[in-house]
Amino acid sequence: MTQNARRIVVVGGSAAGPKTAAKARRMDQHAEITIIQKAPDLSMASCGYPYYVGGVFDDRNQLLCTPAGVVRDPGFFLNAKGITAMTETEVVAIDREHKQVQCRKLADGSTFDVPYDKLVLATGAEPIMPPVPGADLEGITTLQSMRDADFLRKTRDDKKIRKAVVVGGGLIGVETCEALELAGIGITVVEMLPQILMFLDWELAKLVENHMRSKGSMVITENPVAAFLGEHGVLTGVKLKNGTELPCELAVVATGVRPNTKLAQAAGLTVGKRGGLLVDTCMRTNDPDIYAVGDCIEIPNLITGQRVHAPYGDLANLQGRVAGQNVATDSNIEFPGTIQTGICKVFDYSAGATGLNERVARDAGFDVETVISAAPDKPGFMGAKLLVMKMVAERGTGRLLGVQCVGPGDCSKRIAAAAMALHGKLTIADLGVADLPYAPPFSPAIDNLIMAAHVLENKMTGRMRGISCREVKARVDAGENLFLIDTRGADEFEQMRLGIGEVLIPLGALRRRMNELPTDKSREIITYCKISLRGYEVANYLEAHGYTNVKVMEGGLMAWPFPREK
Ligand SMILES: Cc1cc2nc3c(=O)[nH]c(=O)nc-3n(C[C@H](O)[C@H](O)[C@H](O)COP(=O)(O)OP(=O)(O)OC[C@H]3O[C@@H](n4cnc5c(N)ncnc54)[C@H](O)[C@@H]3O)c2cc1C
Repeated sequence: MTQNARRIVVVGGSAAGPKTAAKARRMDQHAEITIIQKAPDLSMASCGYPYYVGGVFDDRNQLLCTPAGVVRDPGFFLNAKGITAMTETEVVAIDREHKQVQCRKLADGSTFDVPYDKLVLATGAEPIMPPVPGADLEGITTLQSMRDADFLRKTRDDKKIRKAVVVGGGLIGVETCEALELAGIGITVVEMLPQILMFLDWELAKLVENHMRSKGSMVITENPVAAFLGEHGVLTGVKLKNGTELPCELAVVATGVRPNTKLAQAAGLTVGKRGGLLVDTCMRTNDPDIYAVGDCIEIPNLITGQRVHAPYGDLANLQGRVAGQNVATDSNIEFPGTIQTGICKVFDYSAGATGLNERVARDAGFDVETVISAAPDKPGFMGAKLLVMKMVAERGTGRLLGVQCVGPGDCSKRIAAAAMALHGKLTIADLGVADLPYAPPFSPAIDNLIMAAHVLENKMTGRMRGISCREVKARVDAGENLFLIDTRGADEFEQMRLGIGEVLIPLGALRRRMNELPTDKSREIITYCKISLRGYEVANYLEAHGYTNVKVMEGGLMAWPFPREK
């Protein structure tokens, strides 16, 4: 090593740690860079675990490879990058005064010190286990580490398990559900909250739940786990708070993660309200020579300004890149924060969101207007698939606050475009005239995202009155006698219908059937169709003919999350 080479030590060798080290190396070819990693592997693609477990690919090394197919082991780091990587080695203490970390070899317990000029903590997060009896039974696992992935993959391959319970309906829970269900294991997902996937609002989450049920999985919400049941130390079932017992041989706990900050806290580094290490936008902790990145920190939400724990792989890598440059060059490049963008695959659906959903936006004090819009993701002749989108904007300013999207169509690019609109602080009027790529294989001429912006703009300017499926259902359940018009064709009505007292007046028959409408033109009329495009046409016509209280049921039948007559 070059004399006076800068000593950069990185604690944690999965996502954020190696990214930091690799960037630091690119910025300084002479630095002495060391990664200290507790786990046996390095640079694990944790986000790929569900797909390895589910049999999408068989070679475990693919979780550890570079795009060129080289496994990122200590030999790779040394030869290709000149970085010393120690695995199965835990940093047990940070001596800030002498600027060194104390390490312990897991194999023999021996300890040694490694000095640093700059230290980067990338210690990740740890799974939260529900504090209920039986949590130590054999047959209960998380899906957080490579070891967990190996265990679940073996379980899948052994084909001995018939029933499993996934505890927690977050992103990892639903991905695990799909992986195991496709392996022929009967899955029940148990969620204590009223819905799965909390990055979505309730009505979109229900559409995803319905899809999971259609694929054979059971989804139980608003019912926390009360106990894990077992015999002779082995799991036999899961008991829920309402007394339901779900027999199973496997339980995967996916009830969230908390930042792993024990080491940092013991060294006197500051932790925030969300339990993550507090860093500035340069990723520096309250010690100017110690940085922190990835799942162990909390960062500002750029829309609310409040700090959040956002445990996402893309953010871990972006932060690592920033920290790597700063520790190598004493520069002050910044990672400003997150708008909290996420996506997951759930069988044939994708579910994604960026920015604030309605619930979070209201909690943050925004005065919001929302819309649900359903539409095909490309022309029908190109094999269109449905997307249901919810857009949230600030009343008054029209500033876009968030977008959610679920369905079998291509959510990903809509969420990506919406994320950039949020980064650019666009209004829905800006979004409504945005120039996105169009050709029939990829999207409709007016993209779903822009269409949602148009509908929301129509609502905000009073050109359209909307009503959510949820409100319609609640009012029907309360015994209200609503005047609902299904505006589709008779054949469509025959195949699928709500059956909540609606009348069928197809758009094409409206002009000659006006006599069937209420004579009191101030009476509320609710119109809809499959996606509520024809419903909107009918509403326009009725308003032009003196009806003053016509509402469109947003998203139509495709956004209806409740049971239907057909
Ligand atoms: C199943 C699964 C699916 C996911 N899917 C997605 C997805 O689709 N999209 C997405 O954006 N994110 C996803 N994530 C989240 C993403 O993987 C994490 O945000 C990312 O791995 C965080 O990286 P990190 O380096 O901060 O922490 P981690 O990946 O947790 O790595 C921390 C490392 O630090 C080591 N360590 C801890 N303490 C010490 C110590 N004292 N000494 C030495 N080493 C230590 C640990 O051994 C660990 O390997 C998923 C996560 C999981 C588990």
